[in-house]
Amino acid sequence: MDTSEDEDWTARSVEVGGFEVHRLLPHRPRRTVGSWCFVDVMGPGRTTASQGLDVGPHPHIGLQTVTWLVAGEVLHRDSLGSEQLIRPGQLNLMTAGQGVSHSEETAGIYEGPLHGIQLWVAQPEATRQGPAAFEHHAELPQIEFDRAVATVLVGRMGGVESPARRDTDHFGAEVSLRPGVTTLPLDVAAEHGVAVVEGRVSIGGTVVSANSFAYLAAGRSEVAIEVPDGAARVLLLGGPPFPDELVMWWNYVARTRDEVAEAHRSWSGDDGRFGTVSSPLGRIDVPRPPWAG
Ligand code: MN
Repeated sequence: MDTSEDEDWTARSVEVGGFEVHRLLPHRPRRTVGSWCFVDVMGPGRTTASQGLDVGPHPHIGLQTVTWLVAGEVLHRDSLGSEQLIRPGQLNLMTAGQGVSHSEETAGIYEGPLHGIQLWVAQPEATRQGPAAFEHHAELPQIEFDRAVATVLVGRMGGVESPARRDTDHFGAEVSLRPGVTTLPLDVAAEHGVAVVEGRVSIGGTVVSANSFAYLAAGRSEVAIEVPDGAARVLLLGGPPFPDELVMWWNYVARTRDEVAEAHRSWSGDDGRFGTVSSPLGRIDVPRPPWAG
């Protein structure tokens, strides 16, 4: 890395819904890159009849979930009544606002290789107490570079813009890289992150392997990514540094502990705030936050 503020790190493995995932963000002390506040790489692994990615109904507030697959299929169900199968190259984008619940399922739906990425975007003050929403994009715009092709999931890259909803000025693209050096344009006002999903790359002389993350401080107009061998697939994420201090606990992105405690009471008491998901899986619950009375 060529500036002192840049960093890189390797994911920690955690289990989600019976499936191994690699958590790249948050990574102390860095909690956000732009408004991106959570990055999990799911797999690569296999789902079978008895073992899959099965995350029962659970609540969210104050964030958008962004789901992107490299291989496999996952069924999304939510409390808005959405039921949407997602496949590689497609985008599922759910906005929680003041409250939504959803499930993600492969049992009885899909058996085979599964590899994907799930991200959260923190919502800004203007929309975080607003209504929930869900959208699916079967096709997204692509842009060609010398040795790469980028699919723009959210925001704008090189004059190409995703149709996906965006509440802050963030950006995200999947970049599929061939061997050699590719120079990608960056927004100088934004900080960026490179999440390596497949293969390995070299950025400023630092090798970043699969399931690792490189943070690039604001102030760059481009980044040169070298693929030493084989091919590589990365997610390039960016945005202006998020202005608010976040309180993140379990599936909630808030500004105060009281907001989290209130969400917890609503979910535990099933008071209607988070609606109902029509799913064969059981609701997920957690003990109350330690500061909640
Ligand atoms: Mn979720």
